[in-house]
Amino acid sequence: MHKRLEDTKYEQVNNILVVVKLSALLFCGIICFKYLATKTITGSLEEYGSAFSMLFIALFLLGIYLIWSTVAVRQFSEKRKKYKQVIENCIFIAIFFVMILISGGPDSPHKFLFLFTIMTTTIQSGMKNGMVMAAVSAVLILLVDLMFFPALAINPYFEDDLILVGIFVLTAAPLGYYVKLGNEHIEELKEMVNRDGLTSMYNHRFFQDALRENIHVASQNNQPISMLFLDIDNFKYYNDLNGHQKGDEVLKEVAKLIEGSVRKGDLVARYGGEEFAIILPNTDREESIKVAETVRKKVQDTYIMGQENQPTGNLTISIGIATYPDNAKDELALIKSADDALYRAKFFKKNRVEVYVSVLDELKREINDDHNELVTSIKTLISVINAKDKYTYGHCERVVMYSRIIADYLGLSEKDKKTLVYGAYMHDIGKINIPEQILNKKMPLDQAEWEMLKKHPEHGVEIIKTVDSLKEIIPLILHHHEKYDGTGYPNGMKGEEIPLLARILTIVDSFDAMTSNRPYHTRRKSDEDAFAELRACKGIQFDPELVETFIKALTIAKQELEIYN
Ligand code: GH3
Ligand code: MG
Ligand code: MG
Repeated sequence: MHKRLEDTKYEQVNNILVVVKLSALLFCGIICFKYLATKTITGSLEEYGSAFSMLFIALFLLGIYLIWSTVAVRQFSEKRKKYKQVIENCIFIAIFFVMILISGGPDSPHKFLFLFTIMTTTIQSGMKNGMVMAAVSAVLILLVDLMFFPALAINPYFEDDLILVGIFVLTAAPLGYYVKLGNEHIEELKEMVNRDGLTSMYNHRFFQDALRENIHVASQNNQPISMLFLDIDNFKYYNDLNGHQKGDEVLKEVAKLIEGSVRKGDLVARYGGEEFAIILPNTDREESIKVAETVRKKVQDTYIMGQENQPTGNLTISIGIATYPDNAKDELALIKSADDALYRAKFFKKNRVEVYVSVLDELKREINDDHNELVTSIKTLISVINAKDKYTYGHCERVVMYSRIIADYLGLSEKDKKTLVYGAYMHDIGKINIPEQILNKKMPLDQAEWEMLKKHPEHGVEIIKTVDSLKEIIPLILHHHEKYDGTGYPNGMKGEEIPLLARILTIVDSFDAMTSNRPYHTRRKSDEDAFAELRACKGIQFDPELVETFIKALTIAKQELEIYN
């Protein structure tokens, strides 16, 4: 964005200067005519002819200059802009020099012409270049004096010309200083626009630009780049207890701690309310875990005012990590992946660092090479669905996480576990055919819309059925909306007719729908409330035994982490 503003300014200044330069050329034209007129005594046709041809040439030159001055200024690189200016200045100086020579040499009343170039150069490229222009002009003027009166001891024009040289310098110096002050002021404002008012960290806008740029550089140099997403744990609780002003103080303090514990060259920004993001250039996954751990530990081990009243007796942060290009192909995907990892860190008791893991990478390794393309297109499909349906943001990944937990708890075979995990990841793939308005509709769906939504399990099967290695997950996708009492869809299967893995998937899918409400980590229901809801629907929607199994599995998984921490 800055670039665009800068380009516009450059162009506007350029336009003004073009007008100034055109006027200068016009003056030169007048001088030429005056010179011709002094020579014209007879007024013969021939002389008129030559005056016209002069006029023609002058107009022609003006035309060329207009084209030259407006030609693709925007696309020019800095270097080319500079070259363009140097060439232009040389031509102007040469023209002025000739004008002075033809209009009387040292006697010429037009020596001030050089002021045009001095002024335009100073405005365009600062005091230093302006001074150079002034010096060159001075030398040329004094040279003319010397050329015409080389032998005279006291040059009659020298004195006047020294005053003129003084005027040259006095034009370039203050004008240059004014331009410099203006530029410094702009730099300060730019810095302010890029910083967050509370923490003085880089802000969200700057972060986005920087990430894009860093990824561009990384992809060109074939380097990895990692990003950390940080979120203060239970900060709403802190605010509720201590007030927002204290909260703001803490935000500032945490910001300082974070900035103090990253490496030189890492870029820290305040991403949003109490969320921070860090870009780690040229850093792989292992290295980024170390950085993240250092930051996490620093916040954990530093006493922060009022932390003893927090639920855990400490004020802590959670961190999600993702690495380019392993986990994501562009900046949007990288942010999403880091956010996804952060969600997992939050889920597992907070004060934690989690790394992004992709189900698809795993799937890619397993599936035979011919189908790699399909895996990629599945990923695309899922991101399209995510974009359409705001409530499924990160939904697939979370359902996978819950599925892993329950599969481990049940001691499912490796094969079943994989089937469950892949099925969990792709269960909504058939939603690709459903219009966005239906997916996000707040009012109850009408009959036709409902019928369309109910088709998504079958559409999902259509998409994956051609791939042999995915045929195991077909029943999961097809039956994840069957209900235990037989009122589900598409087949109205009942009880244990519904395949086991599909029964599990229904539970984890619903649990996530109850507990998540994107964007940003506000949850619709607490785990406990969601557990109660699952229990209330035992035997109606869910397999009663599996509900209990799931609740136990999740509780134990969280407890284990508590001990581990
Ligand atoms: P979690 O551990 O899951 O992150 O819980 P949390 O309470 O921190 O939840 P969340 O990350 O959604 O935190 C959002 C809260 O952060 C809401 C608001 O009270 C607080 N917050 C956001 N921005 C600011 C801010 O600029 N100043 C203050 N004082 N508080 C803020
Ligand atoms: Mg937050
Ligand atoms: Mg938080």
